[in-house]
Amino acid sequence: MSNNKLISDLKRNSTCVLESIEERYAYAQDASNSRNITCIPDAVVFVETIEQVQNVVKLANKYKTPIICRGAGTNVVGSCVAENGGIILNFSKMNKIIEISPDNMTAIVEPGVILGDFQKEVDKLGLFYPPDPSNLAVSTIGGSIAQSSGGAKSFKYGTTKDYVIDLKVVTADGSILQTGANTIKNATGYNLNTLFVGSEGTLGIIVEATLKLIPKPESKKVFMAYFDTVKDAVLAVNSLIDQKIYPATIDFMDKNAIQTVENFYPANLLTDKEAALIIEIDGFECSMDYQENLITCVLKNCKASAIQASHNDDEYNKIWMARRSSMAACTKIKPNVTTDDVIVPRKNLEKLVLGIREICQKHNLEVCMIGHIGDGSIHPQIPIDYNDENEYKRYKLAKSEIYDLTIKLGGLLSGEHGIGIEKRDYIGKVINSVALDYMREIKKTFDPNNILNPYKIF
Ligand SMILES: Cc1cc2nc3c(=O)[nH]c(=O)nc-3n(C[C@H](O)[C@H](O)[C@H](O)COP(=O)(O)OP(=O)(O)OC[C@H]3O[C@@H](n4cnc5c(N)ncnc54)[C@H](O)[C@@H]3O)c2cc1C
Repeated sequence: MSNNKLISDLKRNSTCVLESIEERYAYAQDASNSRNITCIPDAVVFVETIEQVQNVVKLANKYKTPIICRGAGTNVVGSCVAENGGIILNFSKMNKIIEISPDNMTAIVEPGVILGDFQKEVDKLGLFYPPDPSNLAVSTIGGSIAQSSGGAKSFKYGTTKDYVIDLKVVTADGSILQTGANTIKNATGYNLNTLFVGSEGTLGIIVEATLKLIPKPESKKVFMAYFDTVKDAVLAVNSLIDQKIYPATIDFMDKNAIQTVENFYPANLLTDKEAALIIEIDGFECSMDYQENLITCVLKNCKASAIQASHNDDEYNKIWMARRSSMAACTKIKPNVTTDDVIVPRKNLEKLVLGIREICQKHNLEVCMIGHIGDGSIHPQIPIDYNDENEYKRYKLAKSEIYDLTIKLGGLLSGEHGIGIEKRDYIGKVINSVALDYMREIKKTFDPNNILNPYKIF
C-alpha cells in the first residue's frame, strides 16, 4: 500500500489529517498503557460529518487498511491501539448534542460528546443520564457505548446498554444501519442496540446515538463507611441488599487504595481502616433522612467502625474526587499502573478480594483495590515499573491467576472495561466455544474484509 496515496485521498475528504511520525506516535497508545508499542497508525483523521466517515470507510476498503475509532482514548484494555497500523478515526470534533427532548426524555448526540458535559446539559433540564465511568470528565459517548461502560451508579441504574435506544452506524461497506428508534420500548426484531453496545468498534462505526434519560433525583448524599476487615465490608454490602435497600452506589476501596489516595489527594480519609464503602443515596428530599437512618443502622450492625457523610456539595465532591483519583494516585507509587476489571456473583466477593490480595502478595506486587462492589465488580490496580523485567513477569503471572480465580468463582473477565487486546488471550477461558464461534461469525457478517478494529476482543 502506498501511504502517500492513502494520505492524499484522506486529505481530499477531511481538512484535518495527521501524518507526521510524531503525531501518529501520539495515537499509538491508549489508557491501557501497554508495555510495548509495536506499531503506529498510518494516519489520524478528524471527522465532523457522517459523509466523511463513509468516505473514510470506502478508502479503508480500497487500501485494505484497518479503521480504529477513537473517542478520548481512555479505555484501559488496548481497544483503540493500532497494532496493525491503519487509520485512526478521531471523533473529538464530531461532538454536538443534537437534541435533548424533555417531553420524550431522550437525547440525540454525536459520538464525540464528552460524557460529563452531556450529563451537565441534561441536568440543567431536570434530567439524568446515569452511566458514569470514573473518568467521565474526558471520555466520550461513542467510546462508552462501544466499551459498554458502567460506573458507580450502575448498581441502581444499570450501565450504558440500558440507555441506548437507537444508533446510527456506518457499516464496513459504508452504508447506514439504524439499530432502533426514538421509542422507549422496542420488540421489533433482533436487538441490534445491545449487539453494538460493547462491540469495541469491531462491527460498525457509531455516528449518532439516541439515549434514554430519566428524571433527575431531587436529592443525593454520599457516605464513607469504614471497616476493620474486608470481610465486614463485604458482609455489609450483602446485608444492605438482603434488607432490600438499594442505594444509587455501593463502591469499595481497600486499605492500600485509601492510603494511596490520601497521600495523593488529601481528603481526610481514615487511613488506618482496612476497607471503606462509598454509598450514595438519592431520591425525594423527604426520603433522605429515612434512607440515611436505615442505612446507618445496617452499617453499624455490620461493624462499621466510622461513618463520614457529606452535608453539602463540597463534601460530596471531595469524597467522589477521592474515589475517582485512585488510578492517578497509583502512579505516585511506580512509574506505571495497570488497572483491571473482574466481576463475580456478589456472594463470592470476599473470596475474590482476599484472593486477589493473596495472589499479589505471593508475587510481591502492590495492589490497590477499588470497585463497584454492589455489582460484584472489582478493579485491582497494580503499580509497576515496566523497565523491571522480573516485576513484569510476576505481574503477568498474577494477572493470569486473578482471571483463573475469577472464573473459579463463577465470574467474568470484564463487567465494564471490555476486552480489547489486553484480555483477548484469556477470552476462551470464560466464553463457551460455541458462543465464541457465533461471535466470530457475527464479526464476519458485519465486517467481511476485517477492516473494523481487527483482532480486538478475540
Ligand atoms: C481513570 C479511569 C477510570 C475509569 N473508570 C471507569 C469506570 O468507572 N467504569 C467504566 O466502565 N470504565 C471506566 N474507565 C474506562 C473508560 O473510561 C471507558 O472505557 C470509556 O468510556 C472509553 O471512552 P473513550 O471516549 O475514551 O473511548 P476510547 O478509549 O477512545 O475508545 C474505546 C473503544 O470505543 C471505540 N469507539 C470509540 N468511538 C467509537 C465510535 N464512534 N464508533 C464505534 N466505536 C467507537 C474505540 O475503537 C475503542 O474500541 C476508566 C478509565 C480510566 C482511564
